[in-house]
Amino acid sequence: MSLENFDFDLIVIGAGYGGFDAAKHAAESGLRVAIVESREMGGTCVNRGCVPSKALLAASGKVRDLANSSHLLGFGIHSSPVRFERQKIADHANNLVQTIRGNLTKSLERAGVTILRGMGRLEGFQKVGLRESNGIDRIITAKDVMLATGSDPFVPPGIEIDGRTVFTSDAAVNLEWLPRWIAIIGSGYIGLEFADIYTALGCEVTMIEALDRLMPTFDPDITKIASRNLIEGRDIDSRAGVLASKVVAGCPVKIDLADMNSREVVDTLEVDAVLVATGRTPCSSGLNLDSVGVKMMKGFIPIDDRMRVISNGQPLQNLWAVGDVTGKLMLAHTAAAQGTIAVENILGNQKLIDYRSIPAATFTHPEISSVGLTELDAKNLATEEEFDLGVVRSYFKANSKALAELNSDGLMKLLFRKDTGEVLGAHIYGLHAADLIQEVANAIARRMNVVSLSCEVHTHPTLSEVVEVAYKQAAQQVKKKS
Ligand SMILES: Cc1cc2nc3c(=O)[nH]c(=O)nc-3n(C[C@H](O)[C@H](O)[C@H](O)COP(=O)(O)OP(=O)(O)OC[C@H]3O[C@@H](n4cnc5c(N)ncnc54)[C@H](O)[C@@H]3O)c2cc1C
Repeated sequence: MSLENFDFDLIVIGAGYGGFDAAKHAAESGLRVAIVESREMGGTCVNRGCVPSKALLAASGKVRDLANSSHLLGFGIHSSPVRFERQKIADHANNLVQTIRGNLTKSLERAGVTILRGMGRLEGFQKVGLRESNGIDRIITAKDVMLATGSDPFVPPGIEIDGRTVFTSDAAVNLEWLPRWIAIIGSGYIGLEFADIYTALGCEVTMIEALDRLMPTFDPDITKIASRNLIEGRDIDSRAGVLASKVVAGCPVKIDLADMNSREVVDTLEVDAVLVATGRTPCSSGLNLDSVGVKMMKGFIPIDDRMRVISNGQPLQNLWAVGDVTGKLMLAHTAAAQGTIAVENILGNQKLIDYRSIPAATFTHPEISSVGLTELDAKNLATEEEFDLGVVRSYFKANSKALAELNSDGLMKLLFRKDTGEVLGAHIYGLHAADLIQEVANAIARRMNVVSLSCEVHTHPTLSEVVEVAYKQAAQQVKKKS
């Protein structure tokens, strides 16, 4: 088929952050683009993820600050009891969602993207089946097709969701009520962020983690210092190494806790509500990937570093996948970066993604962030490539800005090669960690070394000096070595 005979140059299925970025970039680059969306424009991030959760964190963070009378007294400020209106906090999040969703939709329209409403699926190569909400089903064609269908909350077997007393983050972002006692199953970033919100707004939290330590996906040293404040310092009771094997919705909600090894029920809890934050599952089952011979991996679509879909170990022509549905670093900015890179490759510009330089952040108060390798992965790489691994720690306690804020609880851990000085990774807990990590992410993207980074001047007094101190300490070790 010649290019003119296709309905579009590119059809993107899914208008989340990944699909949005790809469609906009492709249209601005001169391609004829359609985007297919079955729910709200903007996907998880805008409607049920980053945007509403950060709005709730912003509001509840202010409540926490104003209610922290001992902290305020340190500045000589006497506070009175804080009052807040739950509904107005919820409205703030909802209004922000609507604004950002509207802006995003308008910017696609302005770029000339055709928005098609309905469920999309593949009908073989270069063909998309579109089932509109009125039941009409039609086939549209495109030279290239991109799958950006994202993910949904994963709910383990045995857990009954009613959306009111037992819910996932999809409902939690609406903040419809404030349970007196809520159990949060899962201590990943979503569980931690909601624990931050709920405790700031006066709820008691029980955190349930199946693995043997809380915050299992975070650096162990960062976990140690962060959990002292974020968990032990708050109204949170934590249970690690137990599985919420059965959750029955109702009033109260009943939870069976089973030992992870024996799977025997060891305890039961009765709480007002349960938030299930046990990870995300790809939205791929209705995509008819069989029609192009693609085998999924646990529901995720296999791709190469150009975002080409892989079938039988080989990249396919004209079929691309980006975002959560590919299972790589499931974050909004990863999805967007993948979308841009896929379009660059469609345009004939050979571009590869660099996952190592993509940062991740948890927006608790204070924040947690990381980029690059974990210490374990860095150790394995050091053994494999026979170099010495450097690890330095820089403490917020020694930072003037953090001390001025009376908020100096924090640590940055920097991983680097002692032979070349190349930065391999960083893990931060402390005030504005989510902003601080960007500097290290940029350094990793450029494969920079700590010796040259240590010569870069940082503004005084800023939190960025925590990073500067880490670079300087690391540079000493590299210099000593050479
Ligand atoms: C509570 C929460 C907080 C989060 N906070 C952050 C954060 O602070 N920072 C961050 O980077 N990430 C955050 N994330 C993760 C982020 O939201 C996701 O990584 C991101 O939304 C993935 O984008 P995506 O485009 O791959 O998929 P999605 O945003 O899930 O979009 C996929 C879209 O495809 C549509 N779709 C699916 N199947 C079809 C079909 N067959 N036909 C048509 N349309 C279809 C869906 O309706 C959806 O709109 C958060 C997630 C949650 C749940």
